[in-house]
Amino acid sequence: MTGAALGHPVYRDMPTTIFEQMSALARETGAINLGQGFPDTPGPADILNVAADALLSRSNQYPPMAGLPELRAAVASHYAAHQGLALTPQDVIVTSGATEAIAATLLALVQPGDEVLVLAPLYDAYLPLIERAGGVAKVVRLTPPEWRITQAALAAASPRTRFLLMNNPVNPTGIVLRDGELALLARFCVDRDLIAICDEVWEHLTFDGLRHRPLMAQPGMGERTVKIGSAGKIFSLTGWKVGWMCAAPADCHAALARAHQFLTFTTPPNLQWAVAKGLAKPVEWFGAIRADYQASRDRLVTGLRAAGFVLLPSQATWFVCVDLPASGIAMDDREFCERIVRDAGVAAIPISAFYPDEPVTHLVRLCFSKADAVLDEAVARLADFRRRVVAGSGEGR
Ligand code: GLN
Repeated sequence: MTGAALGHPVYRDMPTTIFEQMSALARETGAINLGQGFPDTPGPADILNVAADALLSRSNQYPPMAGLPELRAAVASHYAAHQGLALTPQDVIVTSGATEAIAATLLALVQPGDEVLVLAPLYDAYLPLIERAGGVAKVVRLTPPEWRITQAALAAASPRTRFLLMNNPVNPTGIVLRDGELALLARFCVDRDLIAICDEVWEHLTFDGLRHRPLMAQPGMGERTVKIGSAGKIFSLTGWKVGWMCAAPADCHAALARAHQFLTFTTPPNLQWAVAKGLAKPVEWFGAIRADYQASRDRLVTGLRAAGFVLLPSQATWFVCVDLPASGIAMDDREFCERIVRDAGVAAIPISAFYPDEPVTHLVRLCFSKADAVLDEAVARLADFRRRVVAGSGEGR
């Protein structure tokens, strides 16, 4: 050993992800975990059965590096049916989860010094992956409660900006980008000759009749977009880590494939067969999933509102944000999360974790992809906690 600190500077002082920290605290304290986003259901039985059968009766050896032909074709047909996209199976590369797809895309495309525009609040993996790939993140900070993307906000781009890395629908805000914002982003990418890396893992989890519209479908974007998706989110199977990246231009696709081949190389074949089957389900099946999660959202929101909490609107994802000051709670988001996991037995995620600097600190993210009884118990615990702290701070009303 040299005595010098080990580890790349990007990782050296980095804490464990907030999701893992909060889940660990929940496990340790027995708290209800409304922090990390995952459902508490076993997942769709027919898809699980395909995976189980394939494990026992089909190949468990390396599948093709870019993914099983069945799954690549299923992803392309799925996006044709659901989003009107004209992707071919050859445009699709199967990855071990969307995070691998994001990493592979950045490693494949970013050259030293390239700037990557990102919109905060942003998913925690984005910045370290950009930096480790040699890029420089340019953070456009969006503010609540609207979180709007404006022309003025995009002025942060410079002549060195080569990429836009974005999430839509957005974790943690529950926003679905409006048509005007998509058009603005598309024009911006075309005018500046940027490639858009679109993390669309929440694409099926939209509510109130809203539907996801991919940036790739905007004028001029088909040739400059990498679209990333996740079976874990679509089928409520987050532990599977099956995702994909889609890119039409041949040179872009080849670079992505090279990066993927030296990250995970392949993804378990039985899971790929099962996901291929799942993606071919009738369109109504996906509508039923949306309706189920919307009901869970409404249950949590209604319960918390009745208990005096104020929440921001959530139109997508598995998350809704509590506004602490509006709820009469005089704590910042981190303090609130630390208090409720220990004193109320509920784990949550502070929104400040999604900002590299100048964080928004008055919002807390709760995950509603849970059974009704779990949500009801969490509401009861949070209601009790609020009564105690609001009365205790002399702000009772
Ligand atoms: N996407 C999940 C969330 O936002 C977390 C995934 C993870 O823990 N890496 O909660």
